[in-house]
Amino acid sequence: MMLGSDVSNLSTTAANAAAKGLSIVVPMYNEAAGLAALHQRLCELAKALRHRYAIRCEIVYVDDGSKDGTLAIARALPADALDVQVVSLSRNFGKEAALMAGLDHARLGAVLFMDGDGQHPPALVEQLVSHWIDGGYDVVYTAKAHRDNESFLRRLAVHGFYALINWGARQKIPEDAGDFRLLSPRAVAALRQLPERNRFFKGLASWIGFRQIRVDYEPAPRAHGVTTFNFMRLLGLSIEGLTSFSVAPLRFASLLGVLLASAAFLFGLSIIWEVWTTGKQVPGYPSLVVGLMTIGGVQLIMIGIVGEYIGKILSELKARPIYFVAEHSEKRFEADRDESAGERTAAE
Ligand code: UDP
Ligand code: MG
Repeated sequence: MMLGSDVSNLSTTAANAAAKGLSIVVPMYNEAAGLAALHQRLCELAKALRHRYAIRCEIVYVDDGSKDGTLAIARALPADALDVQVVSLSRNFGKEAALMAGLDHARLGAVLFMDGDGQHPPALVEQLVSHWIDGGYDVVYTAKAHRDNESFLRRLAVHGFYALINWGARQKIPEDAGDFRLLSPRAVAALRQLPERNRFFKGLASWIGFRQIRVDYEPAPRAHGVTTFNFMRLLGLSIEGLTSFSVAPLRFASLLGVLLASAAFLFGLSIIWEVWTTGKQVPGYPSLVVGLMTIGGVQLIMIGIVGEYIGKILSELKARPIYFVAEHSEKRFEADRDESAGERTAAE
């Protein structure tokens, strides 16, 4: 029995890349306002890629239970220069689930993840593809070139998060890496084989290994609307990422426990020493209360951390589907046919 997985048969060479094709996965939650413009840019991009690499493209739009007209607009988009799939989830499942739905529906070899709000510049995609095809890289990820416009506290929090999640890890998750990422066919195959339901794409894409390269870029401002990731959601995502990806918080808990216990032990020794040498009782009410509260508080936090992991185990154990697809439609780009209006829509 083979306990590992061999995906070497999917490795890309410059010669076979074009035949494999590229699926672009775009998760969308209330992105109606900018969708037509984004689609236009992606069609241009597909033409450029076809011209340069003779590579076929498709887009997989994943509507993550949008409340505005995103789905209707997406369905009406023309399959101009590339195939278009529209996958509509039964409700808002969150970005990670939407990405997974896109990955599951992608039919071509390589997969590119890209936000639907215009922050990930399509112009950069040619460069990413070139790293894959010409450079032979498997995971081409992008990272914010700098964080100058973010507050000191936020940068500190981000730094702390990565320090904790990478603590003791063999494969470090690159700091600042975003979800704008291209995966080669064998990296896609590897990612699809990971069975967990609590998915943290940033971490998983790094964990699978292969040849990875970082591309720095400046995110464009959001084309419209506001980000859905406010402070609380980012905090939630961080806890989600930490607990589904690393046991560092548990280790941290044990270590803190050991530290506190040692401090208490030493403190006890010093009291005994004081009573012994001076013969006076140490007035200890305030220190007692402080000590009790510290231990009590720390214990509650640690139980919380352990609880997060038990919650994870429970949700993995229930093994519910990560998402439900309510509607699925597709339009094929018929480049070789004479009738250019040959569009086919299939509902599943
Ligand atoms: N998104 C999604 N489901 C959600 C929230 C967001 O599919 O529940 C999509 C959203 O439409 C966008 C991408 O994920 O395409 C990134 O979201 P956003 O721009 O709000 O986050 P930020 O760019 O601030 O990280
Ligand atoms: Mg955004």
